[in-house]
Amino acid sequence: MESATFVLFGATGDLAKRKIYPALFQLFVEQQLPSSFSVIGLGRRELSHEAFQSNVAQSLLTFSRSEMKDSVVMEQFLNAFRYHVLDVNRREDYTKLLSLVEDREVELNITPNRMFYLSVGPEFFETIATNIHESGLGSARGWKRLVIEKPFGHNLESARQLNQTLNQAFEESEIYRIDHYLGKPMVQQMGQLLQSALTEHDLRTRTIASVQISAIETLGVEERAGYYDHAGALRDMFQNHMLQLLMMLTIEFPKPSSAAEGVKRKSQIIKSLMPLNKRKVSQHVVRGQYGAGMIKEKPVIRYTDEAGIASDSQNDTFIAARLQVDDSFWKNTPIYIRTGKRLKEKATRIVIEFKSEGPLKDLLIIEIGPQEGIYYLKRQSNHELSEDETSLRSQPNLMNKGVDGKDAYETLIHDALLGNKAYFAHWNEVELSWEWVQPIMDAYQENLIPLHVYPAGSYGPQEASDLLERDGFHWWFDKKQTSVNDVTKGELFTYEYTN
Ligand code: NAD
Repeated sequence: MESATFVLFGATGDLAKRKIYPALFQLFVEQQLPSSFSVIGLGRRELSHEAFQSNVAQSLLTFSRSEMKDSVVMEQFLNAFRYHVLDVNRREDYTKLLSLVEDREVELNITPNRMFYLSVGPEFFETIATNIHESGLGSARGWKRLVIEKPFGHNLESARQLNQTLNQAFEESEIYRIDHYLGKPMVQQMGQLLQSALTEHDLRTRTIASVQISAIETLGVEERAGYYDHAGALRDMFQNHMLQLLMMLTIEFPKPSSAAEGVKRKSQIIKSLMPLNKRKVSQHVVRGQYGAGMIKEKPVIRYTDEAGIASDSQNDTFIAARLQVDDSFWKNTPIYIRTGKRLKEKATRIVIEFKSEGPLKDLLIIEIGPQEGIYYLKRQSNHELSEDETSLRSQPNLMNKGVDGKDAYETLIHDALLGNKAYFAHWNEVELSWEWVQPIMDAYQENLIPLHVYPAGSYGPQEASDLLERDGFHWWFDKKQTSVNDVTKGELFTYEYTN
């Protein structure tokens, strides 16, 4: 791997502490970083290099999964770290940063390859990219790369605007848009796993009746009220992570795709999604918001009582949707997606149901998290699991080896350092995803679709199950509800229809 400087904007932030430093450390321990490597952390606060290194050490002690946290290894790692005070809006700070970066390049005798990682709020992305360009930080003779966190815009127009500004400083080939779902080992190995679970003959000939993709969690809005109340499940999860999961799965049929081919096929898939008309969105989409309820036997409050959330907020904390990919393979196969907060369990799972006569179904299940596995279950009838059900887990896991607990950030940072863009969101995918969800956002905005309040601790509004039942399907492997009263028909929020 070529030597490089890792310039981290937002070095004192939450993401840096919880994910980026532990990932870099793990790569260091596994000798997957370049032998000469420089990290420059940036923040608004004055900090000495030593104080910064000690903060990084603290975050490793708290969050690193490595066993090797002894002082010698940590010290070697922390030696690479320097700190620089920078306000993203102050141009002169970038000039000073350039001097520090160059001094370190000379000191370490490394090529001026520079990776700029923007772990700051999205309101700063454009300013930083422009300043990198104008200060000369991006004009060295080595490579330059921009790693950018989500959210990438808040609608189609703002995403286009952001991209245009970034493109004045970085080419598309230099922009690495993080979607951490793409860094999950099960997602990266999807093609390979499908091949080991199904023969090529199966892949070509088995007819898929339906696909369901769920990413559900028990957590509520937590500390993120300010951001989440403007984003909702649609922008926070659906437009990016869920559509990326859909693309990663569907490109593997009818034949497994190589990484290079996959990038092209992802855009084709999203382009082939049957467009929605905002007036008909409610036929395909269920919008929900959590009410009060029980999570793991503890009472929890409703969304609109959460700190920082307006009592009349109509923000969505749940979405279920029926999608249709209009290409020769997927045509006629409905794809159901759901994601939401304050649901009964935490699980990210894909279930492929194969066509068969009668009530017994063959299923292929890809468990992405928190458990990982791939299971081929034949002749299943009961779609609900009892509370303590382990039957899914007791099936043979077709993964022949574990995925070694790698965190998505380890894989993604490593890939970015190598210049491997296969598991980052390409602009075409981002733009097409925004384009596809725009009618849903419009329907929400104009109240053309009901907001169903669901009890915390359920699987979302009953309407999300009705969406499948209409087509003769049901969500697989939801745990049985403890009480029938837990899930009643979603209570409708009062508002006016405008159509
Ligand atoms: P944070 O608020 O904890 O950290 C933000 C960082 O930006 C801090 O280091 C702060 O000092 C710095 N900053 C703020 N204003 C600045 C200015 N004017 N000049 C220089 N630096 C400034 O945020 P975070 O949770 O670490 O998130 C960072 C980015 O990562 C965001 O885009 C967020 O959406 C994204 N993200 C975060 C998480 C997460 O789990 N925290 C997950 C996914 C994506």
